[in-house]
Amino acid sequence: MEQELNPWRASEARFDIAADHLGLDEGLRKILRTSSKEITVHIPVQLDDGRLEVFTGYRVLHSGARGPGKGGIRFAPDVTLDEVRALAAAMTWKCAVVNLPFGGAKGGVICNPHLLSLGELERITRRYTAEILPFLGPERDVPAPDMNTNEQTMAWIMDTYSMHVGCTVTAVVTGKPLDLGGSRGRSEATGRGCMIVTQEALQLLGLKQEGARVVVQGFGNVGGTAAKLMAQAGFKVISIIEIDGAVYNPNGLDVEALWKHRAETGSITNFPGGENIDPGEAMCLECEVFVPAARENVITSMNAAGIRARIICEGANGPTTPAADEILQDKDIFVIPDILANAGGVTVSYFEWVQDRQGFFWNEDMINQRLKEVMVENFRRVVDCAKKYKVDNRIAANILALDRVAFAIKLRGIYA
Ligand code: NAD
Repeated sequence: MEQELNPWRASEARFDIAADHLGLDEGLRKILRTSSKEITVHIPVQLDDGRLEVFTGYRVLHSGARGPGKGGIRFAPDVTLDEVRALAAAMTWKCAVVNLPFGGAKGGVICNPHLLSLGELERITRRYTAEILPFLGPERDVPAPDMNTNEQTMAWIMDTYSMHVGCTVTAVVTGKPLDLGGSRGRSEATGRGCMIVTQEALQLLGLKQEGARVVVQGFGNVGGTAAKLMAQAGFKVISIIEIDGAVYNPNGLDVEALWKHRAETGSITNFPGGENIDPGEAMCLECEVFVPAARENVITSMNAAGIRARIICEGANGPTTPAADEILQDKDIFVIPDILANAGGVTVSYFEWVQDRQGFFWNEDMINQRLKEVMVENFRRVVDCAKKYKVDNRIAANILALDRVAFAIKLRGIYA
Protein backbone atom coordinates (compact mmCIF):
# COMPACT_ATOMS: atom_id res chain seq x y z
CA MET A 1 0.00 0.00 0.00
CA GLU A 2 2.84 2.39 0.87
CA GLN A 3 4.17 1.85 -2.65
CA GLU A 4 0.73 2.58 -4.11
CA LEU A 5 0.45 5.86 -2.21
CA ASN A 6 3.80 7.33 -3.27
CA PRO A 7 2.82 10.21 -5.60
CA TRP A 8 6.38 10.86 -6.87
CA ARG A 9 6.79 7.26 -7.97
CA ALA A 10 3.43 7.47 -9.74
CA SER A 11 4.37 10.62 -11.63
CA GLU A 12 7.77 9.18 -12.63
CA ALA A 13 6.02 6.08 -13.96
CA ARG A 14 3.61 8.24 -15.97
CA PHE A 15 6.52 10.27 -17.34
CA ASP A 16 8.18 7.06 -18.53
CA ILE A 17 5.02 5.76 -20.19
CA ALA A 18 4.45 9.11 -21.95
CA ALA A 19 8.11 9.26 -23.03
CA ASP A 20 7.88 5.71 -24.43
CA HIS A 21 4.81 6.61 -26.50
CA LEU A 22 6.62 9.63 -27.90
CA GLY A 23 9.77 7.62 -28.55
CA LEU A 24 11.74 10.27 -26.64
CA ASP A 25 15.48 9.71 -26.80
CA GLU A 26 17.49 9.06 -23.66
CA GLY A 27 19.21 12.47 -23.75
CA LEU A 28 15.93 14.38 -23.64
CA ARG A 29 14.66 12.09 -20.91
CA LYS A 30 17.76 12.90 -18.86
CA ILE A 31 17.21 16.63 -19.29
CA LEU A 32 13.57 16.37 -18.29
CA ARG A 33 14.23 14.11 -15.31
CA THR A 34 16.64 16.66 -13.84
CA SER A 35 15.87 20.09 -12.40
CA SER A 36 17.43 22.98 -14.22
CA LYS A 37 18.30 24.93 -11.04
CA GLU A 38 18.12 24.12 -7.35
CA ILE A 39 18.78 26.71 -4.70
CA THR A 40 19.07 25.96 -0.98
CA VAL A 41 19.25 28.90 1.39
CA HIS A 42 19.78 29.04 5.14
CA ILE A 43 18.09 32.13 6.41
CA PRO A 44 18.80 33.71 9.78
CA VAL A 45 15.73 35.37 11.26
CA GLN A 46 15.25 37.15 14.56
CA LEU A 47 12.26 35.78 16.45
CA ASP A 48 9.93 37.96 18.52
CA ASP A 49 11.64 36.92 21.77
CA GLY A 50 15.00 38.15 20.47
CA ARG A 51 16.46 34.72 19.67
CA LEU A 52 18.06 34.09 16.29
CA GLU A 53 16.84 31.07 14.35
CA VAL A 54 18.10 29.70 11.05
CA PHE A 55 15.48 28.40 8.60
CA THR A 56 16.15 26.42 5.45
CA GLY A 57 14.43 27.26 2.19
CA TYR A 58 14.46 25.92 -1.35
CA ARG A 59 13.56 27.12 -4.79
CA VAL A 60 13.73 24.70 -7.69
CA LEU A 61 13.31 25.51 -11.36
CA HIS A 62 12.56 22.27 -13.13
CA SER A 63 12.43 23.58 -16.68
CA GLY A 64 12.67 27.00 -18.23
CA ALA A 65 12.35 25.65 -21.77
CA ARG A 66 8.94 27.23 -22.47
CA GLY A 67 9.27 30.37 -20.37
CA PRO A 68 9.84 31.61 -16.82
CA GLY A 69 9.34 29.22 -13.93
CA LYS A 70 5.89 29.15 -12.34
CA GLY A 71 4.96 27.49 -9.09
CA GLY A 72 4.01 28.03 -5.51
CA ILE A 73 5.99 28.50 -2.31
CA ARG A 74 4.94 26.40 0.66
CA PHE A 75 5.73 26.85 4.34
CA ALA A 76 5.62 23.58 6.27
CA PRO A 77 7.71 21.78 8.89
CA ASP A 78 8.27 18.72 6.70
CA VAL A 79 9.24 20.33 3.36
CA THR A 80 12.09 18.45 1.67
CA LEU A 81 14.20 19.22 -1.38
CA ASP A 82 12.96 15.99 -2.99
CA GLU A 83 9.35 17.05 -2.53
CA VAL A 84 10.04 20.52 -3.96
CA ARG A 85 11.83 18.94 -6.94
CA ALA A 86 8.90 16.64 -7.70
CA LEU A 87 6.38 19.48 -7.33
CA ALA A 88 8.46 21.71 -9.65
CA ALA A 89 8.43 18.99 -12.32
CA ALA A 90 4.67 18.59 -11.88
CA MET A 91 4.29 22.33 -12.55
CA THR A 92 6.21 21.96 -15.83
CA TRP A 93 3.63 19.41 -17.00
CA LYS A 94 0.65 21.34 -15.66
CA CYS A 95 1.69 24.57 -17.42
CA ALA A 96 2.46 22.70 -20.62
CA VAL A 97 -0.82 20.76 -20.74
CA VAL A 98 -2.76 24.03 -20.91
CA ASN A 99 -0.10 25.53 -23.18
CA LEU A 100 1.00 28.40 -20.92
CA PRO A 101 4.37 29.96 -21.78
CA PHE A 102 5.83 28.93 -18.43
CA GLY A 103 8.18 26.30 -17.11
CA GLY A 104 7.73 24.59 -13.78
CA ALA A 105 9.12 25.71 -10.42
CA LYS A 106 8.38 25.30 -6.73
CA GLY A 107 9.69 26.61 -3.45
CA GLY A 108 9.46 25.83 0.22
CA VAL A 109 10.64 26.95 3.61
CA ILE A 110 10.95 24.51 6.49
CA CYS A 111 8.99 26.14 9.29
CA ASN A 112 5.81 25.69 11.26
CA PRO A 113 3.66 28.69 10.33
CA HIS A 114 1.19 27.88 13.11
CA LEU A 115 3.90 28.55 15.72
CA LEU A 116 5.11 31.80 14.15
CA SER A 117 3.76 35.33 14.54
CA LEU A 118 2.83 37.46 11.55
CA GLY A 119 5.98 39.52 12.07
CA GLU A 120 8.16 36.39 12.13
CA LEU A 121 6.49 35.08 8.96
CA GLU A 122 7.10 38.42 7.27
CA ARG A 123 10.79 38.40 8.21
CA ILE A 124 11.20 34.80 6.99
CA THR A 125 9.44 35.63 3.72
CA ARG A 126 11.47 38.76 3.07
CA ARG A 127 14.85 37.18 3.88
CA TYR A 128 14.02 34.08 1.81
CA THR A 129 13.05 36.37 -1.09
CA ALA A 130 16.27 38.37 -0.75
CA GLU A 131 18.34 35.17 -0.79
CA ILE A 132 16.74 33.78 -3.96
CA LEU A 133 16.32 37.20 -5.56
CA PRO A 134 18.82 36.75 -8.44
CA PHE A 135 16.74 33.83 -9.66
CA LEU A 136 13.35 35.58 -9.46
CA GLY A 137 11.76 38.02 -11.87
CA PRO A 138 8.89 38.26 -14.36
CA GLU A 139 11.17 36.76 -17.02
CA ARG A 140 12.92 34.26 -14.72
CA ASP A 141 10.70 32.70 -12.12
CA VAL A 142 7.30 33.80 -10.85
CA PRO A 143 6.20 32.30 -7.49
CA ALA A 144 2.63 31.96 -6.25
CA PRO A 145 0.92 30.90 -3.00
CA ASP A 146 0.84 27.26 -1.94
CA MET A 147 0.34 25.44 1.35
CA ASN A 148 0.34 27.98 4.26
CA THR A 149 1.21 30.97 2.09
CA ASN A 150 -1.31 33.49 0.80
CA GLU A 151 -1.95 36.91 -0.75
CA GLN A 152 -0.12 38.62 2.09
CA THR A 153 2.97 36.44 1.57
CA MET A 154 2.92 37.37 -2.13
CA ALA A 155 2.63 41.07 -1.27
CA TRP A 156 5.76 40.80 0.94
CA ILE A 157 7.68 38.99 -1.81
CA MET A 158 6.63 41.57 -4.38
CA ASP A 159 7.63 44.42 -2.07
CA THR A 160 11.01 42.90 -1.18
CA TYR A 161 11.84 42.24 -4.82
CA SER A 162 10.73 45.75 -5.78
CA MET A 163 12.86 47.37 -3.04
CA HIS A 164 15.93 45.56 -4.36
CA VAL A 165 15.46 46.46 -8.02
CA GLY A 166 14.38 50.01 -7.30
CA CYS A 167 10.90 50.01 -8.81
CA THR A 168 7.56 48.28 -8.32
CA VAL A 169 7.47 44.97 -10.19
CA THR A 170 4.06 43.44 -9.65
CA ALA A 171 4.62 40.65 -12.24
CA VAL A 172 7.25 38.93 -10.05
CA VAL A 173 4.58 36.92 -8.23
CA THR A 174 0.95 35.96 -8.81
CA GLY A 175 -1.84 35.39 -6.33
CA LYS A 176 -1.43 38.96 -5.05
CA PRO A 177 -4.20 41.05 -3.49
CA LEU A 178 -6.40 42.72 -6.13
CA ASP A 179 -5.16 46.17 -5.08
CA LEU A 180 -1.54 45.20 -5.77
CA GLY A 181 -1.93 43.82 -9.27
CA GLY A 182 -3.86 40.65 -8.49
CA SER A 183 -6.37 39.33 -10.99
CA ARG A 184 -10.11 39.16 -10.84
CA GLY A 185 -11.41 35.62 -10.94
CA ARG A 186 -8.27 34.04 -9.44
CA SER A 187 -9.86 32.66 -6.29
CA GLU A 188 -12.62 30.95 -8.27
CA ALA A 189 -10.44 29.89 -11.20
CA THR A 190 -9.60 26.31 -10.22
CA GLY A 191 -13.19 25.38 -9.37
CA ARG A 192 -14.43 27.14 -12.50
CA GLY A 193 -11.88 25.26 -14.60
CA CYS A 194 -13.20 21.99 -13.10
CA MET A 195 -16.72 22.90 -14.14
CA ILE A 196 -15.65 23.83 -17.67
CA VAL A 197 -13.87 20.54 -18.35
CA THR A 198 -16.74 18.61 -16.77
CA GLN A 199 -19.15 20.33 -19.15
CA GLU A 200 -16.94 19.29 -22.06
CA ALA A 201 -16.80 15.71 -20.81
CA LEU A 202 -20.60 15.53 -20.44
CA GLN A 203 -21.03 16.80 -23.98
CA LEU A 204 -18.49 14.31 -25.30
CA LEU A 205 -20.30 11.44 -23.61
CA GLY A 206 -23.70 12.66 -24.80
CA LEU A 207 -24.93 13.38 -21.27
CA LYS A 208 -27.15 16.27 -20.21
CA GLN A 209 -25.82 18.96 -17.90
CA GLU A 210 -29.24 19.91 -16.57
CA GLY A 211 -29.84 17.67 -13.58
CA ALA A 212 -26.51 15.82 -13.89
CA ARG A 213 -25.85 14.39 -10.42
CA VAL A 214 -22.63 15.61 -8.79
CA VAL A 215 -20.76 14.45 -5.68
CA VAL A 216 -18.00 16.77 -4.44
CA GLN A 217 -15.34 15.81 -1.92
CA GLY A 218 -13.77 18.81 -0.16
CA PHE A 219 -15.84 21.95 0.40
CA GLY A 220 -12.90 24.36 0.25
CA ASN A 221 -11.56 26.71 -2.38
CA VAL A 222 -11.69 24.23 -5.26
CA GLY A 223 -14.57 21.93 -4.28
CA GLY A 224 -16.73 24.66 -2.73
CA THR A 225 -16.40 26.83 -5.82
CA ALA A 226 -16.97 23.92 -8.21
CA ALA A 227 -20.09 22.90 -6.26
CA LYS A 228 -21.49 26.46 -6.23
CA LEU A 229 -20.83 27.09 -9.92
CA MET A 230 -22.16 23.69 -10.97
CA ALA A 231 -25.35 24.18 -8.95
CA GLN A 232 -25.79 27.61 -10.58
CA ALA A 233 -25.30 26.02 -14.01
CA GLY A 234 -28.11 23.49 -13.47
CA PHE A 235 -26.20 20.45 -12.22
CA LYS A 236 -27.73 18.62 -9.24
CA VAL A 237 -25.18 18.52 -6.41
CA ILE A 238 -26.45 15.51 -4.47
CA SER A 239 -23.65 15.11 -1.94
CA ILE A 240 -20.79 17.04 -0.38
CA ILE A 241 -18.12 15.17 1.54
CA GLU A 242 -15.96 16.88 4.15
CA ILE A 243 -13.34 15.74 6.61
CA ASP A 244 -15.91 15.40 9.44
CA GLY A 245 -18.82 13.91 7.52
CA ALA A 246 -20.96 14.09 4.43
CA VAL A 247 -24.42 15.34 3.50
CA TYR A 248 -26.79 13.93 0.91
CA ASN A 249 -29.96 15.02 -0.81
CA PRO A 250 -31.07 13.02 -3.87
CA ASN A 251 -33.04 16.05 -5.10
CA GLY A 252 -30.00 18.34 -4.94
CA LEU A 253 -28.45 20.31 -2.10
CA ASP A 254 -28.80 24.07 -1.80
CA VAL A 255 -25.07 24.72 -1.99
CA GLU A 256 -25.24 28.39 -0.98
CA ALA A 257 -27.32 27.47 2.09
CA LEU A 258 -24.85 24.69 2.96
CA TRP A 259 -22.02 27.22 2.72
CA LYS A 260 -23.85 29.46 5.22
CA HIS A 261 -24.64 26.50 7.47
CA ARG A 262 -20.95 25.57 7.63
CA ALA A 263 -19.96 29.20 8.34
CA GLU A 264 -22.44 29.31 11.21
CA THR A 265 -21.94 25.88 12.74
CA GLY A 266 -18.39 25.02 11.70
CA SER A 267 -19.49 21.83 9.93
CA ILE A 268 -21.48 20.74 6.89
CA THR A 269 -23.15 17.99 8.93
CA ASN A 270 -26.67 18.27 10.40
CA PHE A 271 -27.66 20.47 7.49
CA PRO A 272 -31.46 20.93 7.46
CA GLY A 273 -31.53 20.59 3.65
CA GLY A 274 -30.02 17.10 3.56
CA GLU A 275 -29.24 13.99 5.55
CA ASN A 276 -25.96 12.95 7.12
CA ILE A 277 -24.31 10.09 5.31
CA ASP A 278 -21.09 8.14 5.75
CA PRO A 279 -18.30 9.78 3.69
CA GLY A 280 -17.17 6.43 2.25
CA GLU A 281 -20.74 5.67 1.19
CA ALA A 282 -21.09 9.12 -0.37
CA MET A 283 -18.03 8.51 -2.55
CA CYS A 284 -19.82 5.46 -3.98
CA LEU A 285 -23.15 7.13 -4.76
CA GLU A 286 -24.41 6.66 -8.28
CA CYS A 287 -23.83 9.94 -10.10
CA GLU A 288 -22.73 11.47 -13.38
CA VAL A 289 -19.83 13.44 -11.87
CA PHE A 290 -17.54 12.89 -8.89
CA VAL A 291 -15.19 15.76 -8.06
CA PRO A 292 -12.46 14.76 -5.57
CA ALA A 293 -11.24 18.20 -4.48
CA ALA A 294 -9.81 17.63 -1.01
CA ARG A 295 -6.45 15.86 -1.01
CA GLU A 296 -4.26 13.19 -2.61
CA ASN A 297 -4.73 9.38 -2.53
CA VAL A 298 -8.45 9.25 -1.84
CA ILE A 299 -9.29 6.87 -4.70
CA THR A 300 -7.22 3.74 -4.15
CA SER A 301 -7.32 0.03 -4.97
CA MET A 302 -9.40 -0.32 -1.78
CA ASN A 303 -12.40 1.76 -2.91
CA ALA A 304 -12.13 2.35 -6.70
CA ALA A 305 -14.30 -0.65 -7.54
CA GLY A 306 -17.19 0.88 -5.57
CA ILE A 307 -17.22 4.21 -7.40
CA ARG A 308 -20.33 4.62 -9.53
CA ALA A 309 -19.62 7.93 -11.29
CA ARG A 310 -19.57 8.28 -15.05
CA ILE A 311 -16.98 11.10 -14.90
CA ILE A 312 -14.30 11.86 -12.32
CA CYS A 313 -13.00 15.42 -12.43
CA GLU A 314 -9.82 15.62 -10.35
CA GLY A 315 -9.91 19.00 -8.61
CA ALA A 316 -7.28 17.88 -6.09
CA ASN A 317 -3.72 16.98 -6.99
CA GLY A 318 -3.08 13.24 -7.15
CA PRO A 319 -6.41 11.99 -5.78
CA THR A 320 -6.17 8.69 -7.71
CA THR A 321 -3.45 6.08 -7.25
CA PRO A 322 -2.11 4.20 -10.31
CA ALA A 323 -3.69 0.95 -9.07
CA ALA A 324 -7.05 2.70 -8.78
CA ASP A 325 -6.58 4.15 -12.27
CA GLU A 326 -6.56 0.67 -13.74
CA ILE A 327 -9.79 -0.22 -11.94
CA LEU A 328 -11.49 2.99 -13.10
CA GLN A 329 -10.43 2.30 -16.66
CA ASP A 330 -11.90 -1.21 -16.52
CA LYS A 331 -15.14 0.34 -15.31
CA ASP A 332 -15.01 2.78 -18.27
CA ILE A 333 -15.12 5.81 -15.99
CA PHE A 334 -14.06 8.96 -17.82
CA VAL A 335 -11.29 10.54 -15.74
CA ILE A 336 -10.30 14.17 -16.27
CA PRO A 337 -6.78 14.06 -14.83
CA ASP A 338 -5.59 16.55 -12.23
CA ILE A 339 -2.97 18.28 -14.39
CA LEU A 340 -5.74 19.32 -16.75
CA ALA A 341 -8.77 19.46 -14.44
CA ASN A 342 -7.25 21.78 -11.84
CA ALA A 343 -5.13 23.90 -14.21
CA GLY A 344 -7.66 26.75 -14.13
CA GLY A 345 -5.79 28.30 -11.19
CA VAL A 346 -2.42 28.48 -12.89
CA THR A 347 -4.14 29.68 -16.07
CA VAL A 348 -5.59 32.72 -14.30
CA SER A 349 -2.19 33.20 -12.61
CA TYR A 350 -0.83 33.46 -16.13
CA PHE A 351 -3.53 36.06 -16.90
CA GLU A 352 -2.43 37.96 -13.77
CA TRP A 353 1.18 37.99 -14.99
CA VAL A 354 0.05 39.17 -18.45
CA GLN A 355 -2.11 41.95 -16.97
CA ASP A 356 0.69 43.11 -14.65
CA ARG A 357 3.14 43.26 -17.54
CA GLN A 358 0.67 45.17 -19.70
CA GLY A 359 -0.46 47.42 -16.85
CA PHE A 360 -3.97 46.83 -18.18
CA PHE A 361 -6.54 44.92 -16.17
CA TRP A 362 -9.35 42.81 -17.57
CA ASN A 363 -12.85 42.55 -16.20
CA GLU A 364 -14.15 39.30 -14.76
CA ASP A 365 -16.11 38.37 -17.90
CA MET A 366 -12.96 38.58 -19.98
CA ILE A 367 -11.03 36.46 -17.48
CA ASN A 368 -13.74 33.80 -17.43
CA GLN A 369 -14.12 33.81 -21.20
CA ARG A 370 -10.38 33.38 -21.75
CA LEU A 371 -10.18 30.72 -19.06
CA LYS A 372 -12.92 28.82 -20.86
CA GLU A 373 -11.06 29.05 -24.17
CA VAL A 374 -7.88 27.65 -22.64
CA MET A 375 -9.60 24.81 -20.77
CA VAL A 376 -11.83 23.76 -23.67
CA GLU A 377 -9.05 23.86 -26.26
CA ASN A 378 -6.70 21.76 -24.17
CA PHE A 379 -9.39 19.36 -22.96
CA ARG A 380 -10.04 18.57 -26.62
CA ARG A 381 -6.34 18.15 -27.32
CA VAL A 382 -6.01 15.69 -24.44
CA VAL A 383 -8.98 13.70 -25.70
CA ASP A 384 -7.54 13.68 -29.25
CA CYS A 385 -4.20 12.56 -27.87
CA ALA A 386 -5.90 9.72 -25.96
CA LYS A 387 -7.50 8.53 -29.21
CA LYS A 388 -4.31 8.89 -31.22
CA TYR A 389 -2.14 6.94 -28.78
CA LYS A 390 -4.93 4.64 -27.52
CA VAL A 391 -4.24 5.56 -23.90
CA ASP A 392 -6.32 6.88 -21.01
CA ASN A 393 -6.77 10.62 -20.47
CA ARG A 394 -4.10 10.80 -17.78
CA ILE A 395 -1.38 9.33 -19.96
CA ALA A 396 -2.68 11.44 -22.85
CA ALA A 397 -2.30 14.63 -20.79
CA ASN A 398 1.23 13.57 -19.89
CA ILE A 399 2.04 12.86 -23.54
CA LEU A 400 0.67 16.24 -24.63
CA ALA A 401 2.65 18.10 -21.96
CA LEU A 402 5.85 16.17 -22.51
CA ASP A 403 5.63 16.60 -26.26
CA ARG A 404 5.24 20.38 -25.91
CA VAL A 405 8.22 20.69 -23.54
CA ALA A 406 10.44 18.31 -25.52
CA PHE A 407 9.58 20.15 -28.73
CA ALA A 408 10.64 23.48 -27.17
CA ILE A 409 13.95 21.98 -26.04
CA LYS A 410 14.60 20.53 -29.50
CA LEU A 411 13.73 23.79 -31.26
CA ARG A 412 16.00 25.81 -28.98
CA GLY A 413 18.84 23.30 -29.29
CA ILE A 414 21.49 22.71 -26.69
CA TYR A 415 23.75 25.68 -25.98
CA ALA A 416 27.31 24.59 -25.44
P1 NAD B 1 -8.84 23.99 0.86
O1 NAD B 1 -8.04 23.83 2.09
O2 NAD B 1 -9.49 25.31 0.56
O3 NAD B 1 -10.03 22.91 0.82
C1 NAD B 1 -9.85 21.55 1.06
C2 NAD B 1 -11.09 21.05 1.78
O4 NAD B 1 -11.03 19.62 1.83
C3 NAD B 1 -11.18 21.54 3.23
O5 NAD B 1 -12.47 22.06 3.46
C4 NAD B 1 -10.91 20.28 4.07
O6 NAD B 1 -11.60 20.26 5.28
C5 NAD B 1 -11.40 19.20 3.13
N1 NAD B 1 -10.81 17.88 3.38
C6 NAD B 1 -9.55 17.58 3.79
N2 NAD B 1 -9.38 16.25 3.88
C7 NAD B 1 -10.57 15.70 3.53
C8 NAD B 1 -11.02 14.37 3.41
N3 NAD B 1 -10.24 13.35 3.70
N4 NAD B 1 -12.30 14.17 3.00
C9 NAD B 1 -13.10 15.20 2.69
N5 NAD B 1 -12.73 16.49 2.80
C10 NAD B 1 -11.47 16.74 3.21
O7 NAD B 1 -7.88 23.53 -0.34
P2 NAD B 1 -8.06 23.81 -1.89
O8 NAD B 1 -7.29 25.01 -2.25
O9 NAD B 1 -9.50 23.71 -2.24
O10 NAD B 1 -7.26 22.56 -2.49
C11 NAD B 1 -7.81 21.27 -2.54
C12 NAD B 1 -6.97 20.40 -3.45
O11 NAD B 1 -6.87 21.02 -4.74
C13 NAD B 1 -5.52 20.18 -3.02
O12 NAD B 1 -5.13 18.90 -3.47
C14 NAD B 1 -4.76 21.24 -3.80
O13 NAD B 1 -3.40 20.89 -4.00
C15 NAD B 1 -5.52 21.20 -5.11
N6 NAD B 1 -5.37 22.38 -5.95
C16 NAD B 1 -5.78 23.61 -5.50
C17 NAD B 1 -5.67 24.71 -6.34
C18 NAD B 1 -6.15 26.07 -5.92
O14 NAD B 1 -6.15 26.97 -6.76
N7 NAD B 1 -6.61 26.25 -4.69
C19 NAD B 1 -5.10 24.57 -7.62
C20 NAD B 1 -4.70 23.30 -8.05
C21 NAD B 1 -4.85 22.22 -7.20
